[in-house]
Amino acid sequence: MINKIDYEKIFFEISSEFSEVDDLGKIATYIPELGKVNPSKLGIHLATVDSQNYSFGDSDELFSIQSVAKVLSLTLALKIMGRDLWTRVGVEPSGSPFNSLVQLEYEHGIPRNPFINAGAIVVCDILVTCLDNPKKQLLDFIRKSSGIGSVNYSSKIAESEKKCGYRNHALINLMKDFGNIHNDVDVVLDLYFYLCSIEMSCKELTQTFMFLAYGGVNPITNQRVISLSRTKRINSVMLMCGFYDEAGEFAFKVGLPGKSGVGGGIVAIHPGKFCIAVWSPKLNKKGNSYKGMKVLEALTSKTKCSIF
Ligand code: GLU
Repeated sequence: MINKIDYEKIFFEISSEFSEVDDLGKIATYIPELGKVNPSKLGIHLATVDSQNYSFGDSDELFSIQSVAKVLSLTLALKIMGRDLWTRVGVEPSGSPFNSLVQLEYEHGIPRNPFINAGAIVVCDILVTCLDNPKKQLLDFIRKSSGIGSVNYSSKIAESEKKCGYRNHALINLMKDFGNIHNDVDVVLDLYFYLCSIEMSCKELTQTFMFLAYGGVNPITNQRVISLSRTKRINSVMLMCGFYDEAGEFAFKVGLPGKSGVGGGIVAIHPGKFCIAVWSPKLNKKGNSYKGMKVLEALTSKTKCSIF
């Protein structure tokens, strides 16, 4: 096991190496509120299963976690609905952009996986069916399982996305036509946009996602979030589908299950060892954090610590 000083030294080395390399990504502006973020932010936080914490840069600053939150909605829906969930959404990589409509048409409204937009919208539909007050109960679940009572939605970001989320409207209407959306489309999309608007820091993300490194239990709160077997399934779907049409690249270069969001955040898990979150807002062409991917690749290369 590598000690505290080594991880922090590695973060420092990585960031110095990158200060000489151009940050080639572009900030997401299709959600106007996201376009206001300072593009040069860089935060890293790594927490081990035995409660060691290692930070770098802007690791305590809140940012919009966007699609990283889709892992949490899936976790809650799986707890409620169990394996029947997989009749509504698949577990295969899409090989397509996160907001693509093409596959949905020829696959009859069943999204490839719960982490592309269409799949996450179906998961929100399930939560709307099963919960009396889905927005509140989803937030309560996240607060309780993370042990962070201050986690919240950003109505500014949610409303900003709602106004111009034309593709998400197209996706949900197509799925409604195929019979894979059971509730009012506006109610489901409202939950989806609020889910994506959740804000957390890198440090909070590691605390929230630590259950995936620890067999389904959050070691900080000692709470079981989900069963061991479902932990395995969530990690598998993250490995195969966590980076849209770049999931293969992330597995190839980083070698950890992970999930990214267009806010520039990435969470990655080393089961049994650690959870790491990186935030750098500029995105590559596939919608994943340009620098975030590079930081994680450098980390697993330098420490020789991937799941493979
Ligand atoms: N709210 C974003 C959207 O629906 C999420 C996309 C992402 O983070 O990948 O476009």
